[in-house]
Amino acid sequence: MSRLGIIDTHAHLDDNRFDSDRAAVMARLANDMEAVITQGTNYESSLASVKMAEQYDFVYAAVGWHPEDLAGIKDESYIAELEKLVRGHEKVVAIGEIGLDYYWKENEPKEVQLLRLKQQCDLAYSLDLPVVIHDREAHGDCLAFFQNEVPKNLKAVFHCYSGSLEMAKELWKCSYYLGFGGSSTYKNNKKVREVLAACPEELFLLETDCPYLTPEPYRGRRNDPSMTEFIAQNAALVRGTTFAHIAEQTTKNAKVLFDKMKLNA
Ligand SMILES: [Zn+2]
Repeated sequence: MSRLGIIDTHAHLDDNRFDSDRAAVMARLANDMEAVITQGTNYESSLASVKMAEQYDFVYAAVGWHPEDLAGIKDESYIAELEKLVRGHEKVVAIGEIGLDYYWKENEPKEVQLLRLKQQCDLAYSLDLPVVIHDREAHGDCLAFFQNEVPKNLKAVFHCYSGSLEMAKELWKCSYYLGFGGSSTYKNNKKVREVLAACPEELFLLETDCPYLTPEPYRGRRNDPSMTEFIAQNAALVRGTTFAHIAEQTTKNAKVLFDKMKLNA
């Protein structure tokens, strides 16, 4: 077992903020982490994620087009390209990071975002893979989409969950998972901690979204997957349990959702 016994279900290990010391970071993580799922945000980063999964035993990949990157899609063949990445690589365990982002005005219009989300969810379903969902300031549309536009048994995690407790309850009814990261450790973020406290044990995952969203007490520094330690400590406090229990439960959950992961023990 790794030092922390935790799976970081959402990282961006291909980010250029790791370029100067990636080898050293990865060597440390190989010892610290049970596994890390690194996310694609467009074709290039999906390919980079796949390559990292091939290079490092503890790394798994998700491939997909992030809502902020959709303008880079040239034509409809992008779906076939993603499918090829999945079929060609055993360690692709999800379609992600995909979703809706209404925060940035320069993003593609809502209709385009919804179409790309639908196409990528359909691909995931056809390949029997879960989807990793980014929802920024699009809670209403996101909930309606997942309640009405996808097959009932499509598996999904809402990463870095930022919606209300009411919305979370609707998602739990459909057995969707929630990912909790650095933002759940911020003192002013009462809403997320309320959801974290109430989340059913079997639908709860840990993540960093590194290099972004560094947890307390290291807010402001570069984030990396080993910082899940502080997210798990905070979760144990909020949920009134132990670090060991949080680590064991979330690792089990990640293996159930991302069931293509082949981990020892
Ligand atoms: Zn992300």
